[in-house]
Amino acid sequence: MTVHAAIEAAPNIARLRGFVTDLADLIDQGDDEAAILAGGRVLLKRLVATDDWLPEAYAQPSPERYQQYLLHCDSAERFSVVSFVWGAGQSTPIHDHTVWGLVGVLRGAELVESYVREDGNLFRTGEGVLHAGEVEAVSPAVGDIHRVTNGAEGVSVSIHIYGANIGAVKRAVYAPDGTPKPFISGYANSHLPNLWDRSRP
Ligand code: FE
Repeated sequence: MTVHAAIEAAPNIARLRGFVTDLADLIDQGDDEAAILAGGRVLLKRLVATDDWLPEAYAQPSPERYQQYLLHCDSAERFSVVSFVWGAGQSTPIHDHTVWGLVGVLRGAELVESYVREDGNLFRTGEGVLHAGEVEAVSPAVGDIHRVTNGAEGVSVSIHIYGANIGAVKRAVYAPDGTPKPFISGYANSHLPNLWDRSRP
């Protein structure tokens, strides 16, 4: 199926429902971060391998800034699933997460610059491009500070999962000199996709 056809067809919301259910099952097995990142990577890679399930409302860019749409939050806030939508040239500030996270690119590409912070100073440790279908992890244990820029000429969309209700987490953005500023991201949407109407396919 071409990307164009995927956008016009009714979204295959069962794929997102299955992902959410599988992720909850994985997290039910224990809170070992390495195991969650390894298992979650497999699930997210499978989710972003097919672009037929994300409702258009959660793939809309804004000319103002990148958009962060909540797709699902676990009832105990053990995890959340978010779509990030990037217009041409848009990027995040340098920021941290404070919890585990996985980023999978659904459409387009993302440029990821990684940093470490030591004695209050930021050091850039690497840079890479994440293409559609690829997944990358963040966490205080595996590297938690980065800056993400849309790496495509048009709109890019990535699907993120985090070990908390990420829009409510107190975390930080950083000036290039390493000065932190408190940051709570929130979400762009006030309505969530309906994953649970089983009268539909
Ligand atoms: Fe991030």
